[in-house]
Amino acid sequence: MRIILLGPPGSGKGTQAQRLVQRYGIVQLSTGEMLRAAVAAGTPVGLKAKEIMAGGGLVPDDVVVGIISDRIDQPDAKHGFILDGFPRTVPQAEALDSLLRHKHLKLDAVIELRVNESALLSRVETRVAQMRQRGEEVRLDDTPEVLTKRLASYRSQTEPLIHYYSERRKLSTIDGMMAIDEVTRAIHRQLLALGAVEPKTHARSAAKAAPAKKAKAAKKPAKAAEKAAKSAKSAKKAVKGAKKATKKAAKKTAKKVVKKAAKKAVKKGAKKAAKKVTKKRAKR
Ligand code: AMP
Repeated sequence: MRIILLGPPGSGKGTQAQRLVQRYGIVQLSTGEMLRAAVAAGTPVGLKAKEIMAGGGLVPDDVVVGIISDRIDQPDAKHGFILDGFPRTVPQAEALDSLLRHKHLKLDAVIELRVNESALLSRVETRVAQMRQRGEEVRLDDTPEVLTKRLASYRSQTEPLIHYYSERRKLSTIDGMMAIDEVTRAIHRQLLALGAVEPKTHARSAAKAAPAKKAKAAKKPAKAAEKAAKSAKSAKKAVKGAKKATKKAAKKTAKKVVKKAAKKAVKKGAKKAAKKVTKKRAKR
């Protein structure tokens, strides 16, 4: 399966892409991530991209097309991929079309995450706060000023892709303002409707991609069940023990009460008898 995730910065493309990776066992190809790695490594591409990225602009088309073309050829992309952050311009989309044609690959769908622009700034602010809390390095371009520029370049250069792909009958639009799980479900339903995934085959391919994980996951519930059974047994034992103890205690108290009552009765009887004797003696 090969899909494109389209949406402005902060629309949740990255989050949804990660979920799709786990579900379908395909790879996420994020040009933003690749460029950040290149910047960190100080490669020629990184050096070219650094300033542009920090300012919220777009890296030249030929640079990103080159990166994507190489990446698609790698073995882990053979089962399929999600393009996240690429294409971002119409020339990039055209280059991708010809690139896929040459490689005899078909694009299954373009999923657009539509979001309310006023929510984007607060979403990115939340993302930054969470990253800081986790002690992660915060992206240089995740500031309100740069975000405004990134949004402007999305509107002018990336939004035309909505028309581009809708003309080619590839576009599916999903409400990106829903809860994360809801968006994931909506994407899955859409992929099913398009025939890009089948309920059974996608499960198999995911199992192939991560058999160790699946086996572990399968073991987990079994272990949990074992633990639960054990604790249920011990709970039963504890209840039985408690019942026995209560019975014993009840018997003991009953015995004590009877003994006390008997003692009292004996005492009373003895007193009465003694009184009678003294009365008789007095009469005499
Ligand atoms: P992202 O992580 O997708 O938000 O990308 C971060 C930055 O990397 C963008 O603001 C651009 O400067 C650059 N970038 C990522 N993908 C592309 C692309 N397809 N075309 C041009 N620039 C890109």
